[in-house]
Amino acid sequence: MKCALVTGGSRGIGRAICYRMASMGYYVIVNYKSNDTEANNTLLQLKENGGNGEILKFDVGKKEDVQTLLGNWIEKNKDNYIEVLVNNAGIKEDGLMMWMKDEQWESVVNTSLNGFFYVTRMVLTSMLHKRYGRIINVVSLSGLKGLPGQTNYSAAKAGVIGATKALAQEVAKRGVTVNAVAPGFIKTDMTEGLDENELKGMIPVKRFGLPEEVASAVGFLASAEAGYITAEIINVNGGLYS
Ligand code: NAP
Repeated sequence: MKCALVTGGSRGIGRAICYRMASMGYYVIVNYKSNDTEANNTLLQLKENGGNGEILKFDVGKKEDVQTLLGNWIEKNKDNYIEVLVNNAGIKEDGLMMWMKDEQWESVVNTSLNGFFYVTRMVLTSMLHKRYGRIINVVSLSGLKGLPGQTNYSAAKAGVIGATKALAQEVAKRGVTVNAVAPGFIKTDMTEGLDENELKGMIPVKRFGLPEEVASAVGFLASAEAGYITAEIINVNGGLYS
């Protein structure tokens, strides 16, 4: 059984990635933090479309939970290693730096950056032993360009971009690639409050992107054919920034 773990896989971009992984023949582990209904809906839909998988609830930013809950899964599935890891879980807590509270900074950095670390190190060992693996990190335009009101989010995503490039060089000779996709404005719950009509003027493609358009870039990086691409960041932003 080929397994793919998608963190934050229950809604938005992560959900589209889960469906993409299922269509590539992967048994999909749909991780999420709290919304059981959406996670169950995602798994149901995935199975209705001929895929297979399970939900696995844990907070990627809580080291002990990752070690216990993901660790238990790994322990119970010794014959089924996670061949593809998509670090997609992320949140935003926007605000100008001068008014930013500790909580706002810590929750965003903890989810994206520490979450990347806690989850990736758990699945890396098996990939290195098997001499094959695909790690794809969902970062952001904000981590490349920097966006005002998002010092926490830009810092977290920029941190993951640096880690992507460093880890890629550590593990390349063992057949493991590490890449990232950097979405611009994508239609999900995260961008629900934004006015597409107002913002689309500055996007060359003149619209927000769809979760499926991010998922197809992730699918390509997860494929065996992408084996000579590593330490790369692919923009999926309608030409907004490069
Ligand atoms: P979303 O619709 O808000 O969905 C977020 C997903 O992440 C949900 O499944 C959520 O689970 C999960 N999640 C949040 N915190 C978590 C945690 N601590 N542990 C485990 N799961 C957690 O977000 P999205 O728009 O799809 O964004 C997905 C990724 O793309 C994020 O990393 C985001 O930063 C990045 N991104 C998004 C955009 C955009 O325009 N939407 C642009 C650039 C980058 P629950 O439902 O249980 O909370």
